[in-house]
Amino acid sequence: MEKESYHTHTTISDGKLSPRELIEFAIKKGFKTLAITDHYSRPPKVDASGWSSGFYTESHYLQLKKLKKEYKDKICILIGAEFEWYSSKKGWLFAEVDKRDYDIKIISVHQIPVNGKYYPINYSEETFDEVLDLLGGDIKKLVVIYYNALREAINSKKFDIVGHFDVIKSLNGNSKYFSEKAGWYREEVIRTLNVLGESGMKMEIHLQGFLRACKEQWPSKWIIEEARKRGIRFVVGTDAHGRFDLDYNCEEIEKIIGENV
Ligand SMILES: [Zn+2]
Ligand SMILES: [Zn+2]
Repeated sequence: MEKESYHTHTTISDGKLSPRELIEFAIKKGFKTLAITDHYSRPPKVDASGWSSGFYTESHYLQLKKLKKEYKDKICILIGAEFEWYSSKKGWLFAEVDKRDYDIKIISVHQIPVNGKYYPINYSEETFDEVLDLLGGDIKKLVVIYYNALREAINSKKFDIVGHFDVIKSLNGNSKYFSEKAGWYREEVIRTLNVLGESGMKMEIHLQGFLRACKEQWPSKWIIEEARKRGIRFVVGTDAHGRFDLDYNCEEIEKIIGENV
């Protein structure tokens, strides 16, 4: 498999390198394909802590188009975006998605809505506990809101790839909050995989979870096996935010992906 990543960030959102720096570095590292998939901005008037409204402007997009052309003989640059699912702002989101021509559209859920506000679910234990408290400490409720949002996003048929499918487990080191073996958890995952299988969207394999509290890949091995059974195809997503993680565990991801490209 050629060296590639379908999920990276630059200074267009919260990455450390400018798009040009990232491209130059990727060429040096031997990448053949690089998708630049910065976070899209949050909708106007949406209360979402920590999520900028300044991510990804029109001039950023035009800059990427220029770079794609400029480097076309050295590397295949794909212009992408990592969209966030806002169930209360679907009209806005769909209009934004359709506004430009992207090579790749990732949909991820990093925030869940509770009482009209969006809360991060993979940021820190503190913020996770805050949203859990709002839900009366009911972890099942929280996880169900996450997978519901993901299913809704998949069903919208607006996107190509699901980003870090089970990112909800980020802070779940040593099963602190829930067990992946619990019947209700498996049921949520399977329901979501069934929807994903029917959608034709691809699933990203992403190993940066090893750097987080969960010390596990996204998705977990058993989820990948269930996805394989459903004919879901995989892509490499390193979710690089700088130099150190551009090819983080790339080879390992390729082994996991095997034939399901
Ligand atoms: Zn993400
Ligand atoms: Zn990302």
